[in-house]
Amino acid sequence: MALLENVEIVRKRIGQRGLCAVLKGDAYGHGIDIVAPEIIRFCSHVAVVDNQEIEAVRRIDENIPLIRLRVGSEGEISDAAKADWRVREMAASFNKIEEIGKIYSHFGQTADIHLSLDAAGLGRNGFSIRDPYSLDALMRTILTIPNTRVASVGCHLPDAGSAVPYHSADPSTRALNGFVATVKWILQIFVDHGLPLPEISSYSSSSSCAFGEHDPVAVLGLPMFDRIGSSLLGLTSSNRHGELGTGQVLHAGTFVCDVTHREHGETVGYEHSYKIEDPEGKDIAILGVGWLTLSRYQQGLGKTTTPAHCMTPSGDIHEFLGRQSMNISTVSARSRDGRDLRPGEFIYLTTDFGPDEYSPTIPRVAKWMGGVQHEFVSTAFGASSSTSRFLF
Ligand SMILES: *Cc1c(COP(=O)(O)O)cnc(C)c1O
Repeated sequence: MALLENVEIVRKRIGQRGLCAVLKGDAYGHGIDIVAPEIIRFCSHVAVVDNQEIEAVRRIDENIPLIRLRVGSEGEISDAAKADWRVREMAASFNKIEEIGKIYSHFGQTADIHLSLDAAGLGRNGFSIRDPYSLDALMRTILTIPNTRVASVGCHLPDAGSAVPYHSADPSTRALNGFVATVKWILQIFVDHGLPLPEISSYSSSSSCAFGEHDPVAVLGLPMFDRIGSSLLGLTSSNRHGELGTGQVLHAGTFVCDVTHREHGETVGYEHSYKIEDPEGKDIAILGVGWLTLSRYQQGLGKTTTPAHCMTPSGDIHEFLGRQSMNISTVSARSRDGRDLRPGEFIYLTTDFGPDEYSPTIPRVAKWMGGVQHEFVSTAFGASSSTSRFLF
């Protein structure tokens, strides 16, 4: 439900522009086989990265334009060509496009290329646009490489979350202006060669939010599509340009392994961090997840900051007791309202419901970590398949 509501909100935001659902990183850890079938009918394009993801999308939809959103390796590209997945390969160098052309000629096909321009200085997946004259010369040769066809031209704005649209000093605004100027230049080459004009794609989730109403790229007058990842999954709320009203799609949960009783005066957790004060003692529920399960990379998370509570599907809040360890958590078996957890019961570890400021929602975890990529956190939450699973 959250996913479909998010799609609706995003569709309103992007208006006439196409919606390219970015489902890389196994749909940011949500499971591409679960997410794609729900939303593909609202999309004009889908973008992924790995061949398993391409295959997963093709199983659902044989024809939707499908983009590999990073430069592929020779093996990946050739496996994709051989399987006839008709994936649009991202490319940002003459050699790569030539290689793609050779691979596709071997299979008697023409490859679609998503030409990436490094408008914002990411220095990885894009042609540098610093020197228009050498770029012009380069493009003239690129557009004639056999067995290739440039189907779209795009850029990626890494600072979009903090963009100040139409402010001359804003990095995203400057990048977009540079992109538009460069694309105008390149389009002339398409015209000179009599080639069909490409689609344009400059916005990701945050930039789509930021530039939604002010659209410097529209002047190009070409079909456009926005590449939306985080917003679809309700994860842009921590940006300045969060997609208002979207909801978190992913919630991590686990089953209670056991419940044990501890007497008054006994302690729970490392360094005797929690001391039982209740005269009757306390029942402790053991969960088979800990801060390492949440992510081995979240250095310090959970050692110093323990999420305050977890929550059952019926909304009972159970507090974490004591300093938690890497793959076991200890929570109060008795909820704040006096209900007792039993072994085998299911409990959510992440939730955006509930009164507490400290439950480990993904945006909040990202805040504790000082900023984090959503797909990284959501994937890492599932690092131990035996102890943690996702609910939607
Ligand atoms: C991941 C990615 C996107 C989607 O980014 P979100 O911020 O998650 O919407 C768009 N474009 C490129 C090139 C990407 O790598």
